[in-house]
Amino acid sequence: MDRRRFLQHAAAPVTALATMSIPAFAQSAPASTGDLAVRAASIEAWRQRLQGMLDKGRLPMIDIQATYVPGVTNIGQLMAWMDEVDIAQIAFATASSPDSGPSLELHRQYPGYFIPTTSSGEFPRWWNNPAAFVSRVAADLKTGNYYTMGEHEFRHYPSPEQVEARNNGRDITVPLDGPAGHALFQLSEDTGTAFQIHYEIEDPLLPVLESMLARYPKARVIWCHLGMIRYPDRAKAYNPAYVKSLITRFPHLHFDLAVPRAENIYRPSGARDSTIFQNGRLGEEWQALMEGFPDRFLVASDYRPPVESLYRTTMGRHRNQILGPLSEAVRHKLAYGNAWRLVTGNSWGA
Ligand SMILES: [Zn+2]
Repeated sequence: MDRRRFLQHAAAPVTALATMSIPAFAQSAPASTGDLAVRAASIEAWRQRLQGMLDKGRLPMIDIQATYVPGVTNIGQLMAWMDEVDIAQIAFATASSPDSGPSLELHRQYPGYFIPTTSSGEFPRWWNNPAAFVSRVAADLKTGNYYTMGEHEFRHYPSPEQVEARNNGRDITVPLDGPAGHALFQLSEDTGTAFQIHYEIEDPLLPVLESMLARYPKARVIWCHLGMIRYPDRAKAYNPAYVKSLITRFPHLHFDLAVPRAENIYRPSGARDSTIFQNGRLGEEWQALMEGFPDRFLVASDYRPPVESLYRTTMGRHRNQILGPLSEAVRHKLAYGNAWRLVTGNSWGA
């Protein structure tokens, strides 16, 4: 197809897109017609795959938080599992790479499956120089090729597999109100693009988060791992009522549901760290919160290669234990609707 025919071919979706609010283009240079056509094609690929699952009477899920390690992640296996357990898309943030490029390459190879996501802040390039990392993310976003940002570790305790391996190298503190934090919140305000934070729940950290949210009211923040409390004695103030107070004060704050299984014990503290569950079920107050504010929560796997074999189990558990008890309309928002809105800038079906 020559360029003119390609543009004619693309004209309809481009016209439609021109009237939409498109997060990544919000404040960047005007996009060319070609850019808009590429963007329309990406969104159409996601829409078709997701709609195909709905047409079969299934509940599709968009996995908003997952870490891609090129050469280690078994993409073929993962895609087979996505088909098997109705994962429409994964927002795959690359770790251990100099830029976000591998996530975009993956999308170009398998457009319907993967959402181009900027780098995952879960490896030394983030910890060692977070400000430079955010600059790189800003440059990647400016291309207009990315739809959401990866997870940034501001406060992170060693993960269970690192505890197992006696690897305490990922006990991370990057001040949320330091230069990288300000740059990231500002970047989200400027571009309308959502970003994810890993921020352990500790009482002294909460006022810092609140002050950043107040200072950058348009920043789209996804606070990962709702209710995951690894040291209960450090987190007296956090409960469903506190989360509700954040939600009512900060209209662009979201939470992802990448949480350990209900019976999980975080070994360093001995605590049952998944506090949204009570007696093995989604707690009543948490359920009421999700029903009351259905636009603020998103499912996620927290996939990374060491736990690859658990992918289907993890997503199946979220489906049964978190989405299962919710009402039908709310379930659809948490499963894919909210992610769709943050990624594309429009409501599903709009
Ligand atoms: Zn995390």
